[in-house]
Amino acid sequence: MASHSFFCRGDLGAENPYSGGGVIVSLLTMKFGGTSVGSAEALSQAAAIVQEQARNWERLVVVVSAMNGVTDALTRGARTAAAGDERTYHGIVTDLRARHYTTVDALLDANGERSRLLGTVDKYLDEFSTFCQSVYILGEVTPRAMDTITSLGERINARILAAVLRQKGTSSEAVDATDLVVTDDTFQDAVPLMDATRAQVRARLIPMLEEGTIPIVTGFVGATKEGVTTTLGRGGSDFSAAILGDCLDAAEVWTWTDVDGVMSANPRLVPDARVIPVLSYGEVGELAYFGAKVLHPRTIRPVVERGIPLWVKNTFNPTCPGTRIVREPESTPGTVKAVSAIKGLSMVNVEGRGMMGVPGIAARTFSAVASQGASVLMISQASSEQSICFVIPTDAVAGVIAAIEDEMALELARRDIDRVWSMDDVVIVTAVGAGMRGTPGVAARLFGALAQKDINIIAIAQGSSECGISLVVTADQATDAVRQLHSEVINGK
Ligand code: ADP
Ligand code: ASP
Ligand code: MG
Repeated sequence: MASHSFFCRGDLGAENPYSGGGVIVSLLTMKFGGTSVGSAEALSQAAAIVQEQARNWERLVVVVSAMNGVTDALTRGARTAAAGDERTYHGIVTDLRARHYTTVDALLDANGERSRLLGTVDKYLDEFSTFCQSVYILGEVTPRAMDTITSLGERINARILAAVLRQKGTSSEAVDATDLVVTDDTFQDAVPLMDATRAQVRARLIPMLEEGTIPIVTGFVGATKEGVTTTLGRGGSDFSAAILGDCLDAAEVWTWTDVDGVMSANPRLVPDARVIPVLSYGEVGELAYFGAKVLHPRTIRPVVERGIPLWVKNTFNPTCPGTRIVREPESTPGTVKAVSAIKGLSMVNVEGRGMMGVPGIAARTFSAVASQGASVLMISQASSEQSICFVIPTDAVAGVIAAIEDEMALELARRDIDRVWSMDDVVIVTAVGAGMRGTPGVAARLFGALAQKDINIIAIAQGSSECGISLVVTADQATDAVRQLHSEVINGK
């Protein structure tokens, strides 16, 4: 393996829980994403990686996702049941049973844990079926019920990986993160309560680690103080790994995925995208926030606060070093390192000549938005103050417009505000690179590149971190915009 800091995190200090007898014991947290544990072959590869790193590190904590596509299938089952469809979820149970059975049969010996594990698969899929039946009868699925239902994919997979490792002679045990990660009750996007989480994680995992057992923890999942299951938002297993890394003073956090690291663009859109060897927390945070699915945007915070290096690596190409994410950006003035895109958005406009100079309009607009729980990805206000426009997920638009119209009823009646409307099917395209900071001309290069392809820019914003510039374009021009910026501004320099 690469020579980076295996046993050498010097700043753990005396409070390091593993520093008995003056020997610093280093800990690695590794997370495997859905494709990395999505088939028997992938799970064996993941198990081999765990075994290799168990030799390199003194303590290892593993976080596991559901098999790729399973969370989507569970969600679809619950949604269709709520909509009065009793057949779809039965079909999903059949498919998921077949997929997990095939995997378990291929991986586990008949005279070992195989039949027990098949029983575990049945138990969780029976639970899924019962939940969907209740949702069908009730005719609705609450976010709280959705979290319990969607946590099942991780619960099953953690048990499979732990059993595979035990069969290979590595002591390991599946742990439900409902016993570890304490969150608030924002179902489907829960926020961890770090003090309570730290206490639970240490109480539960440190004795296991001291015994030499590798915990295989369900990613994505948490629970409220009362023990009700929550989830950390789609793609949240990355965040789970960072939370555990923080709580256990990990020397490093690694996320294993299906591409060679964080790349200069989504390789599915831009075939010649390249791996970026080093990125700063700020740069990767901006990329993740604006659509680079390779890391969940909230992953960054726990590691940045503790200065823990984060690596993104490829399960299917483990000798490739991947991307190292560190505190200080490496940058050459003027360079753009990556471009990302986020879809499914609408731009809401609040317009009116009477808004000019009236204090409080923006504050009232955004409190109306907040009342709908919608997150605003980008804001821009014309300097004439005749309009405010902001970008939110399309599924929040109807509620947000109604809330603003309600809040501004008087101004609308007086025609100080002419209209509140949305432009749907827009995409935010973001160019990221710390070298853009304070360098004149970068925006002009972005605009020039897009103009060459007749791509119309609807709105522009630059984050305060100055390591990203975001542009709004229509959805039908988004892929061209990403490719054009990649070829002209990143490759063309
Ligand atoms: P996992 O299940 O391992 O968490 P995800 O599907 O959540 O994997 O994230 C990995 C995917 O992110 C890649 O397969 C790729 O399609 C997508 N992606 C988007 N933008 C980027 C980028 N800039 N670099 C790498 N991958 C990206
Ligand atoms: N399984 C969850 C999802 O698909 C979490 C994750 O994969 O990170 O969103
Ligand atoms: Mg992911």
